Amino acid sequence: MKTAVLRDKKFVIENRPKPLLDEYGEGAIIKITGCGLCGSDIVKIRTGKAKDGDILGHEVVGEIVEINSKTDFEIGDKIAMGHHVPCFNCVYCWNGNFSMCRHFKSTNIIPGGFAQYIYVTEEHLRNTVFRVNIGMSDIEASFLEPLGCCIRAVKRAKIKDNSNNLIMGLGSIGILMGQAVKALGNKAYGCDLIYDRVCLSENFGFDKSFRLQDEQTALEEMKKAVPMGFDNIFLTAGASSALDFALKTARDGATIVVFSSIKDDMKGFYNNDIYYRELNIIGSYSPSPMDLEDSMKLLEERKVKVDGLASVYPLEGINDAINDTLSNKIMKAFIQL
Ligand SMILES: [Zn+2]
Ligand SMILES: [Zn+2]
Repeated sequence: MKTAVLRDKKFVIENRPKPLLDEYGEGAIIKITGCGLCGSDIVKIRTGKAKDGDILGHEVVGEIVEINSKTDFEIGDKIAMGHHVPCFNCVYCWNGNFSMCRHFKSTNIIPGGFAQYIYVTEEHLRNTVFRVNIGMSDIEASFLEPLGCCIRAVKRAKIKDNSNNLIMGLGSIGILMGQAVKALGNKAYGCDLIYDRVCLSENFGFDKSFRLQDEQTALEEMKKAVPMGFDNIFLTAGASSALDFALKTARDGATIVVFSSIKDDMKGFYNNDIYYRELNIIGSYSPSPMDLEDSMKLLEERKVKVDGLASVYPLEGINDAINDTLSNKIMKAFIQL
């Protein structure tokens, strides 16, 4: 089968053996129709976390072509899924930190979404695989996992009704985050350096978005819109200055959710801001099965829309997809197989 394999920080198309259900016994073989390119895939390549020979991709959509399972999935079902499954029975799971569960981290799809076929386990089928309704496009369905991540972040912030939320960074994740916040009955404000993205967010229902070109002007405009400061701030953009700025926009007692990695993680510890202003600074990582379920519901009910967010590339164009994402030429790449 055709597979995009990492060689010297670039993908090369190689022919690999198709995974065989017989080798595993239980589970299913999925014929991939498409897979979203995640920011985390790009981070893994650039930081060297992904090694030569690795096959990445986890935001998969496809069709079940072989199955041996006690679930009611059948051959021909169109599915979207999450790639990690928690054990539900460890100190992390008991405390709701499902994405920290060691079993969660050890589970995955085989070999990865940028391939024509993958193997998924019985526990994936039971927990993180979802049937895609007729009428939902492959691209829409591929947002199941990224939207699940956003829903997790919103839940972790424990946002209250009618709260004022600022989404910093209006890439595809920022646009999803704002819509998730709105779907739960809250106000979503956005900010970004790129003017087109500021405008785009308002088309997706953000109450107001601000251009970050000049920090002082942006802060004044934000103060006019939300004089108290924001209740919750979601950092979806990986810049070391983002947390500094977030602290200036937060009301006392606010929650700041860190939802991105940064290259230069050497900033000072904001001891006094956190102490004197009773700020909550929390992280949010990867979705639980329950977050994925909520994500599918929001997509099905079209409470979260993804129209025009993704640009389509063939598997052979995956390196272009990465370059175009990094240069902000596109919001999100969907690799079609
Ligand atoms: Zn992802
Ligand atoms: Zn666990």
